[in-house]
Amino acid sequence: MTFKDIMKYIESEYSIINYTPCKVCGGNYIVKYSNEILIDDIPYDICHCVCSSCGYEKIFQFCAPFVKETLPVNIRAILN
Ligand SMILES: [Zn+2]
Repeated sequence: MTFKDIMKYIESEYSIINYTPCKVCGGNYIVKYSNEILIDDIPYDICHCVCSSCGYEKIFQFCAPFVKETLPVNIRAILN
């Protein structure tokens, strides 16, 4: 997977977040922070989002096949 593919992937995650209205007020979510975790050896990108209007918090979970390839080896070892 090239860097361009990774960027496309991240962009699609962000567009999903941008097009998901807040379930409380219909406002827009913004990403507070995100982190990568491994579940059953499958990497996931966990985005902690907050509504920009009412502050409602929502977590978006994306399967992130690129994470494994981009993580430095020492971090991979810690996660495993
Ligand atoms: Zn809201």
